Amino acid sequence: MNPKRIPIIAGNWKMNKTTGEAKDLAAKLAPLVTGVKDREIVLGPPFTALHAVASAVKGTNISLAAQNMHWEDKGAFTGEISAEMLLDSGCKYVIIGHSERRQYFGETDETVNKKMKQALKKGLFPIMCVGETLTEREAGKLNEIISRQVSGGRKEIAADDMKKVVIAYEPVWAIGTGKTATPEQAQEVHALIRQKVKELYTGGIAEGLRIQYGGSVTPDNVSSLMAKPDIDGALVGGASLKPESFAALVNFK
Ligand code: PEP
Repeated sequence: MNPKRIPIIAGNWKMNKTTGEAKDLAAKLAPLVTGVKDREIVLGPPFTALHAVASAVKGTNISLAAQNMHWEDKGAFTGEISAEMLLDSGCKYVIIGHSERRQYFGETDETVNKKMKQALKKGLFPIMCVGETLTEREAGKLNEIISRQVSGGRKEIAADDMKKVVIAYEPVWAIGTGKTATPEQAQEVHALIRQKVKELYTGGIAEGLRIQYGGSVTPDNVSSLMAKPDIDGALVGGASLKPESFAALVNFK
């Protein structure tokens, strides 16, 4: 954590929660995090629950993220959701390039980049996910993969827009597996990402960039991760599905 960057704790609910369940979770969470001002709190419900959660968190310190979007404005793209629809549903953020989307739905650095550009053009703040698989890590390709994903995802994005981007480092082997990267492993990659961004942008962009860690973050390990200088928040799956555990994450010491 660096005092110049406001920590951002975001929950990725993935394909969980009906509208009623989502509303209930948001309503139970809000009083547990009232008054938290020195960190940003973001919830990422499924599309169908965005509107309901937006109503439940209205007037609170909680903002909303979508889990994906399409890069076109509108049209014949059955099953897709546009940036404008997300804004209309109350979103401030959009998660782009989550490893599950890359792994199961064929997302590439190119589609991630198209989505990034569209999100920024329309006024959404992207949370761009990057991360290596275990095979890539064991083959010594960590640096290459992370550099390629960071550089490809932000291609043609101007410095002013880059200030609105959050990057989430999520090692694929740590997502939903209960295997967290050690704080030292995470710090090493966060520093690498910041260095990469420094090579691509001048003017303090890298220093201001918030980089979240994601991968089996729990109330038990969040503080040791957040103690590292280049870790500016967490993107959380499993532990974001219960109000008490997500509140504990938000309220890390
Ligand atoms: C995620 O989906 O972004 C994630 C990090 O999941 P989990 O916390 O369950 O590992």
